[in-house]
Amino acid sequence: MTPNHVHEFMKTIIAYIMTCISVVAAGTNDVQVFTAFNTNTQPGILITLETFTRAGQTNLVRDTRTRGGTLTIRNQTFYHDGVQIGGHTTYPTTSFTYSVAGAPYSMSFQYDASNQLRSALVTSNATILELFTCTNGVFYSKDSAFLQKAASLSASLPQAQGPDATATCRATLHHLEGAKHTWALEHRQMNSAVPTDTDLFGREAYIREKPKCPRGGTYTIGAVEEHPLCSIPGHTF
Ligand SMILES: [Zn+2]
Repeated sequence: MTPNHVHEFMKTIIAYIMTCISVVAAGTNDVQVFTAFNTNTQPGILITLETFTRAGQTNLVRDTRTRGGTLTIRNQTFYHDGVQIGGHTTYPTTSFTYSVAGAPYSMSFQYDASNQLRSALVTSNATILELFTCTNGVFYSKDSAFLQKAASLSASLPQAQGPDATATCRATLHHLEGAKHTWALEHRQMNSAVPTDTDLFGREAYIREKPKCPRGGTYTIGAVEEHPLCSIPGHTF
């Protein structure tokens, strides 16, 4: 698929999403949201965990952490068929999207003319499997009726490309850096401090599971003041 085709694909999808948001009646909505709060993990930190299901299957998990009402980190993870396909992470000063390399489906993100994120798609052979709209960096699952309408359109769309390994690894390095900085901020660590895997990874930490390089490289987290490294040549921050 040429860049021009990709551009046309995104334009069509964005136009479609914008026109259809008000079309689907509320009564057909099969999206449910389960919300849990946790204040016990770290002092002063409120964790809000929102799990979205569509047709009974989890397709979006939003983990929002605030301290004194101020956002410290928001991890949004996209799933289809129980498999993580990609995500979006927001830190106070930056945010980024990523796709999971080797996932059985493709993840793509669409931006409007002002470079604002408007939607995310999980696709397989140009079929839309999951569709999320985005407002101010916060994603919402669309229901099955909406997806069916999207399917009639997507039949004529070209296949989306999977993520490039170097770009995926670079996104992971940025993800690691963001987690490291948030850890240093929350735990008042010096720039020379080096977090351990336990500090950053796990259900109660910043990244649920330690990320893997798509080419099997080894990650060196390093000190707060250093960029994380991958052992594969060319996989740079
Ligand atoms: Zn790598």
